[in-house]
Amino acid sequence: MIQTIRGFRDILPADTFLWQAIEKTASELFENFGFQEIRIPIMEKTELFARSIGETTDIVEKEMYTFADRKGDKLTLRPEATASVVRSYIQHNMGSSDPVQKLYTIGPMFRRERPQKGRYRQFYQINAEVFGIASPYIDAQLILILNELFKRLGLSELKAHINSLGCKECRPTFQKELLSVLNDKKEHLCENCIRRMEKNPLRTLDCKVPTCREALKDAPSTLGHLCNGCRDHFETVKSVLKDQNVDFTVDKTLVRGLDYYSKTTFEILTTALGAQSAVAGGGRYDALIKELDGPDTYGIGFAIGLDRLAEIVAQMVNEKLTQTQDSSPKDDLQSDFMKLLSARFPDLFIIPIGEKAFRLAYLWSSALNIAGIRTETDYSGRSLKSLMKRADKLNCAYVLIAGDQEIEDNALVLRDMKTKEQYFITTDNPVEQIQTLLSRV
Ligand code: AMP
Repeated sequence: MIQTIRGFRDILPADTFLWQAIEKTASELFENFGFQEIRIPIMEKTELFARSIGETTDIVEKEMYTFADRKGDKLTLRPEATASVVRSYIQHNMGSSDPVQKLYTIGPMFRRERPQKGRYRQFYQINAEVFGIASPYIDAQLILILNELFKRLGLSELKAHINSLGCKECRPTFQKELLSVLNDKKEHLCENCIRRMEKNPLRTLDCKVPTCREALKDAPSTLGHLCNGCRDHFETVKSVLKDQNVDFTVDKTLVRGLDYYSKTTFEILTTALGAQSAVAGGGRYDALIKELDGPDTYGIGFAIGLDRLAEIVAQMVNEKLTQTQDSSPKDDLQSDFMKLLSARFPDLFIIPIGEKAFRLAYLWSSALNIAGIRTETDYSGRSLKSLMKRADKLNCAYVLIAGDQEIEDNALVLRDMKTKEQYFITTDNPVEQIQTLLSRV
């Protein structure tokens, strides 16, 4: 039997309802902040990623799905979205109508990493990018938006890690100093760090190899070398975050894996599932647009890892739902997000019993579906008892018992599955009656 490729997977209906609810919560929030959706191709010319992400990054060096198409053009399945959104901003001259553009996109990314739990070769991200704003307020606002989104999804123990990488003015002096430390400590560094020292010394700062960490624990940080402009920028980001009660910590090792960042970088970490894990990351990339032959304007953005986020949210939802079985419902079960999740269950199950009932049940249920009430019925002629069981299994809020006898008596029984309350419906305009009843209760 043919199976999925290693590191690729299906997201099945049991999970997609949760993904959709997360995506809806995110897009609504982003749109409140003035973002508009953009949809970009999943494949681009390889050069776009090589030039933007950086030749010496893990992604470009060893993780891209790159191949020649039939004409020999070098193409790559996108490993991230920023480069494509920037390409689109430039290609469509978006800045000419309004230099300020706030865009978001949701979709799959491809990296040939070693698959493990929470790491896939096709994974999904929610990305947001802002062009044309130099102000540090927008840096703080992006972190605020992430914080708010994760709160809405019920995540707890959130922490924003932030850092500043400086700009093309102050980074060279810092890199020089770092390089001399790296040369001194060379014999303690891993192969990767030694290879990257010359081209991208910053990356050595977030190397996870213990000997590198130990050797570089007192290495100079970008924060100690910021020019006045970068320092003021970073101070404002911090003070705005404080004003908005966003919990953050300054993390001088947060250099991120891509070359294009400058000034603010950030990651949002959660300990919701015990171990600390990053659910989103981003930063400013003020030089990138010009580097890709666009206008000299500002850029900043973030990426949320949807696979990991969905796993965390699923666990939290399950925990909440099991808690409610033995105690009173928690307040946050009333949240908009939880309401979105429960909207997946049918509103109504029509139980037909007898010849006449079948046809009417089918007609009524289709009319209710069209009217926006999620209605299921049955075509197998099973007994009342077994259909009640099925309605229960499907988590239907109501059942309508429509036997030939009830139809004859002109008194259909609508039962609330939770409270067991019963209402009588006549056969002349059941759709309207059910609509009215369900909108009232
Ligand atoms: P990055 O673009 O590497 O900064 O990643 C942003 C977010 O995407 C991370 O915080 C992860 O949650 C997620 N992510 C990155 N790579 C993968 C992967 N291979 N599988 C699943 N999620 C990923």
